[in-house]
Amino acid sequence: MLISLWFAVTSHAAPPPASPDDPLLASTLGHVSADRLQARIERLAAFGTRHTASSATHPTRGIGAARRWIEAELRACAAGTPLQVQARTHLEPAGRRLAGPTEIVNIVATLPGRLGSPRVLVMLGHYDSRNGDVMDAEGDAPGANDDASGTAAVMEAACLAAHAAKTRPLNATIVFAAVAGEEQGLLGAAQLARELDTHFTVEGVITNDIVGSPHGAQGEHAPHTLRLFADGLDPLLRLMLRGAAAEPSPRLKAQQELAAAGGSEDLPTAQFGRHLKQAIETHVPGFQVQLIQRRDRTLRGGDHLPFLERGLAAVRFSEPFENYAHQHQNVRVESGQQMGDLPRFVDPAYVARITQANLAGLLSLAWAPAPPNDVRVDARELSNDTRLMWIGVDGASGYRVLWRRSEAAHWEHALDVGPGARSALLQGVSRDDWVFAVQALDNQGRASLAIYAPPRGS
Ligand SMILES: [Zn+2]
Repeated sequence: MLISLWFAVTSHAAPPPASPDDPLLASTLGHVSADRLQARIERLAAFGTRHTASSATHPTRGIGAARRWIEAELRACAAGTPLQVQARTHLEPAGRRLAGPTEIVNIVATLPGRLGSPRVLVMLGHYDSRNGDVMDAEGDAPGANDDASGTAAVMEAACLAAHAAKTRPLNATIVFAAVAGEEQGLLGAAQLARELDTHFTVEGVITNDIVGSPHGAQGEHAPHTLRLFADGLDPLLRLMLRGAAAEPSPRLKAQQELAAAGGSEDLPTAQFGRHLKQAIETHVPGFQVQLIQRRDRTLRGGDHLPFLERGLAAVRFSEPFENYAHQHQNVRVESGQQMGDLPRFVDPAYVARITQANLAGLLSLAWAPAPPNDVRVDARELSNDTRLMWIGVDGASGYRVLWRRSEAAHWEHALDVGPGARSALLQGVSRDDWVFAVQALDNQGRASLAIYAPPRGS
């Protein structure tokens, strides 16, 4: 009897299916324009410098002129769509990288989700720039790759997603933000993280920083590769190293408990990273996502960190190689080599694929239902079978149970169950040997983020 039941379950279990085909998503990705991206990157570089402390008032040079232009461009493409554009300003006091109090302005374009839904997804790029001296607010700092590339990607994605949402409304809100103050200490992103975390359930954040070129300094070329940095364990370990002085927030404490219950590879950032890799590789054919289990490049940072440190799912997209002759450099020729972050070193076709990757990852989730709640493995009795339990969500047309070996990076098996199911029994699948999660599905097979199932003994 046990054997026949075991086969009954495994005959339904299958490898997790790819994201379903979606003609609207495909046509949205098809409208991403390398020419428009190139024109916007050149325009941003033409403001001379976008240093956070550069002129806020000069009509053509400095960060003020740049942000007025970004806002006007976004307003132009928001016309007739649900996209809402806002310049959000806060005053940052003098600090290690700010000589005096400075206005930080984030240009935020919000594409609202279903009425009353608290879910929000975030796409970031930073429009401020710097040269060799982080305090130099006057000298040229074209910042074409770092980070006009990410800013142009945000603008392009916002405009195209706005049209897609007109055709098919989103379940979750997407916030597209061009933020300032990254080079002076992630100041704009930190403010945005505070604002969004107060009002929404932030489900996932992507920062696009240095996404302009598939070329390395030694002739390497990887035009279909993206580095995706995703590690949610990092802030928990840092808290631990800081010792008892740092009391974790309730959210980080809950994640510590999840990590201690075998979920160290399954924190929200890891699930978001897995979702992005799968969605991108399905919807941007030929594109490969290198999923790196680190919060960022070694000893470096970006605008996802203020979100990550709050225990939110937050990742970084970057090009496959970085060329340090074209990053944080004064524009000059040295030993016959052109130094500086100039538009000519950016490949707009590559930025177009990055933009498509963001849209594939974010729209597929924004159209999906919310994830299930209180997912757990029923561990009240010893058993070689595994029972998963969860609390359902509105709008779900079913649920998908996922499992993989503890040493596997990606989900290996899936079992779909109906909308009324609140538990699933996997016979002959031991909770001691496998890692489990549950997703909510809509009637098109679009899946929510996976939620790790910790064992629950009571
Ligand atoms: Zn940057």
